Amino acid sequence: MIKITKFGGSSVASAEQFKKVKAIIESDESRRFVVISAAGKRNSKDNKITDLLYLCQAHVTYHVDYLPLFNLIAERFLEIKRDLGLTTPIEDDLEDMRVRLPEMSVDEIVSRGEFLTSKLMADFLGFPFVDAKDIVAMNFDGTFNFEETSARLIKVLEKCDRFVMPGFYGSLPDGAVRVMSRGGSDISGSILARCINADIYENWTDVSGFLMADPRIVKNPRNIESITFSELRELSYMGASVLHEDAVFPLRERNIPIHVLNTNRPNDPGTIVQDNIAPDPNGPMVTGIAGKKDFIAIEISKKNMSNRVGFVRQVLSVLEQYGVSVEHIPSGIDSFSVVVNKSDVKQNIYEIIARIKELMQPDIIRLTDPFALIATVGRNMNSRPGTSGRLFAALGKAGVNIRMIAQGSAELNIIVGVSNKDFNTAIACLYETFSEEMDEAKARVNQ
Ligand code: ASP
Repeated sequence: MIKITKFGGSSVASAEQFKKVKAIIESDESRRFVVISAAGKRNSKDNKITDLLYLCQAHVTYHVDYLPLFNLIAERFLEIKRDLGLTTPIEDDLEDMRVRLPEMSVDEIVSRGEFLTSKLMADFLGFPFVDAKDIVAMNFDGTFNFEETSARLIKVLEKCDRFVMPGFYGSLPDGAVRVMSRGGSDISGSILARCINADIYENWTDVSGFLMADPRIVKNPRNIESITFSELRELSYMGASVLHEDAVFPLRERNIPIHVLNTNRPNDPGTIVQDNIAPDPNGPMVTGIAGKKDFIAIEISKKNMSNRVGFVRQVLSVLEQYGVSVEHIPSGIDSFSVVVNKSDVKQNIYEIIARIKELMQPDIIRLTDPFALIATVGRNMNSRPGTSGRLFAALGKAGVNIRMIAQGSAELNIIVGVSNKDFNTAIACLYETFSEEMDEAKARVNQ
């Protein structure tokens, strides 16, 4: 059994957290390949090393004295080293960095958070350290070269059967360090899991997996024990964020499961993400509920529109010209709406409307107030009567007016648009309804 084990920034924020990581690694011999983020926040007022490194780089760019900030960053690493009695000579790396900072690239500077945290972790675990720049091969356009990464890994594995690797960065064909998007250590772990052909990718963080609803809205929501990649994609798109979205794609193709776990509560079951969970006609209807505020709809009507071929396409081509991505297109017979993210059209909305008017001469074109979209997601709702019945009844009972309805073609979700002000009420009442239904499903199974 091969596990890739990735620890996020909060799991490696201090010597105390390092000890938890060590206990987790040592409790399972199959945890031999470890990916580490940069030390994160130790408390809510603290700073992430990566943020400080970006700030340090900005000091260099604007010719502001960067040394006090650099020393603060260095001290975070030196404190962990002292507290754990480690010997790895990170002082040399820090000194090299201090001297070279003005000529280092942004990517190289910010990658040092993962680099140094991983060196300390490798020393603490007694594992070899491998640099991500020598393993994770990236193309100039930022995509990954899986073949080259696998070939490099084979060579490394000839020499060692375990290692610690920094997350968040790799190298370009010319050898330069290149970082991924923020939170990218999740992607590093997933690339490693794919290229090593791991049995499972464990992603250790500071929450016990995915929750059925946002805990800022619902008190103590249920944990999602298992979820498919498609369900996760729907929920993440609508705002549930625990795992970097791009971490899913490399694993999905190989159906390698992801287990999201909590470093601070290692015995919690966490969430398993995998594809081969068949829909269960007796199982709970809903896996999770998530939503996002601030969408707007451009409503368009024109007499006899349903008989004009190409009308919708022409409207969409205007949005395409402005680089706006369309979320939904609810339609009537001679009218339809185009739902877009408010922030995507903020600058150009009146220009877009003028252009549509000029091209299509609609009878009516108007903009709605901003509203929220809420997705109720579940693999078991496919071909099953009753899910939407419960959903709309719950919203009606809570006095929430529904402004739009959409359902994806795979019957994996039901999306409703509600006023921004009704967002929390809607999520809370949907959670309550489908959490009750979950108890009913459990009772059905136990009968
Ligand atoms: N340290 C990087 C960040 O803060 C990458 C990561 O933690 O995954 O975005």
